[in-house]
Amino acid sequence: MQNLTDHKKTEIKNRLVEIFGPQNVTDKEPDLYTYSYDATECEPHMPDFVALPETVDQVVAVVKLANDMEVPLIPYISGNNVGGLTIPVRGGIILDFSKRMNKILHVHESSMYAILEPGVTFGQLKKCLDDHHPSLRYSYPFAPPFSGAVGNALLSGMNNMSSAHGSMGDWINGIEVVLHDGTVARIGSCFLGKEFRTDNWHTRYPMPDLLGLFVNWQGMTGIVTKCAVQLWPRRPIEKAYVSFCYGFENTAELMRELGRAEIADDVLVVSVEVAKMLLGIPTPIKIPEEPDFAMLIQLSALTQKHLEAKYEIMQCILAKVNQKHGNKIFLTEFDAGASIVGESFRFAYDLPAVVTPLVEYSGLTWYGSYAPPEHLGVLLEKGTAIFHKYNFPPFVYSKIMKSGHYSLFRPIIRYKKDSEEERARSALEEFFALGVEYGCLPYKTPAWMCNRLKEFIDPNWLEFFKKVKGFMDPKGIFNPGRWGI
Ligand SMILES: Cc1cc2nc3c(=O)[nH]c(=O)nc-3n(C[C@H](O)[C@H](O)[C@H](O)COP(=O)(O)OP(=O)(O)OC[C@H]3O[C@@H](n4cnc5c(N)ncnc54)[C@H](O)[C@@H]3O)c2cc1C
Repeated sequence: MQNLTDHKKTEIKNRLVEIFGPQNVTDKEPDLYTYSYDATECEPHMPDFVALPETVDQVVAVVKLANDMEVPLIPYISGNNVGGLTIPVRGGIILDFSKRMNKILHVHESSMYAILEPGVTFGQLKKCLDDHHPSLRYSYPFAPPFSGAVGNALLSGMNNMSSAHGSMGDWINGIEVVLHDGTVARIGSCFLGKEFRTDNWHTRYPMPDLLGLFVNWQGMTGIVTKCAVQLWPRRPIEKAYVSFCYGFENTAELMRELGRAEIADDVLVVSVEVAKMLLGIPTPIKIPEEPDFAMLIQLSALTQKHLEAKYEIMQCILAKVNQKHGNKIFLTEFDAGASIVGESFRFAYDLPAVVTPLVEYSGLTWYGSYAPPEHLGVLLEKGTAIFHKYNFPPFVYSKIMKSGHYSLFRPIIRYKKDSEEERARSALEEFFALGVEYGCLPYKTPAWMCNRLKEFIDPNWLEFFKKVKGFMDPKGIFNPGRWGI
């Protein structure tokens, strides 16, 4: 926090201790340090305090304190957003939900949702469903199992059922949120009734959808204390296929067509170099004869015949694409693919997991974006060229989203923080420029990229956005610095 006097700091600390208890508040430098940075190029900054909330009342009290003292509040789960979004650029109080406010409050079997406290992790949710609700499933990212399911939904992440059901923001049925003045509001069908109930979180429609004031706002408008996410029926048969793809436009076309056919839970491609990374080669070089991409297609089915029908449709689509572009894509069962590429390839099938190639360097960053499917081919091609230009192994990750309505274009850079950050940053700038050219929208957007984006977006949108932020957070306490405001 800038220009915080010792007197003010002592007062804040005393009040934090009153709210949370002395064992749940710290201002010790070694404790604060881990919250000051993430794996990305975003500049580190120390917080002044870390507090560990457990109850809604404590969150209300700390929001009132932050307003009184005009001190920033940064909601935090595990800081794994890969966008610097929890770095306290103006200091203040980190509210770490992962330690004590992390209960799965309810799983509603028949209406298929789970009500989560903000600190619930993907690993926790998966274990709970596997152990106690095996007929239901959730969707998982390539993020480590200890990253937050609510943070991911609030940021509209994309997971391994997103090709069928869209980004995770669409999966939110409702939230409970603490507003700037300490009011606790319930949004979605859960607004029925004066008290919190577990049986009415089934939809957010058809009332005015106030959820838009909180989703994708990076914690800038309020503190979410409960979040209901949709679950989906687990189908008895799950089967995955891998295709090895030569070429860009045909790979994109196959993804689009598979999306439109609505047969797959997930359709994603990664640069073939990623397969080599999984084999333990940190800086792989593709030889010309090797394919450009590996595509993972995940199917699920109610019966064997259902699966066979999906398989037949997939083969027809592939045959058409291959006929049009030459036979450049080969499909095989995942198990056969894994035996070629290596058993470590299996992580992709068994999420959440720690994906070694993503975490083996000190630096990890990306240009994550939602892209128009029509431009996927050119994005894959030009994106791969940017990796070569900056001498990073290509790591393009792309996915068709929500049956082909949009797609993911995410070039990922792993780098050495001490020596390669500048090069990584230059490559990111170029990915950003490519994305803008083809209508991509960066997600989980770091502040520096938001500032660049402002050069290209409707100024009236920006004005409106600032007004909404001013209304939701008049004293600017909620995660300041995001979007450069
Ligand atoms: C190796 C790796 C791979 C990844 N792969 C994927 C992937 O495939 N797909 C994908 O979508 N993501 C992926 N991610 C990103 C990550 O999964 C999500 O962004 C993450 O799940 C968010 O949870 P978190 O614990 O990191 O949240 P944090 O980073 O702690 O918080 C996320 C945001 O939410 C805000 N926030 C936190 N709590 C609250 C609250 N209570 N109220 C309001 N705002 C709040 C924070 O201020 C921040 O802006 C990956 C990350 C890593 C490190």
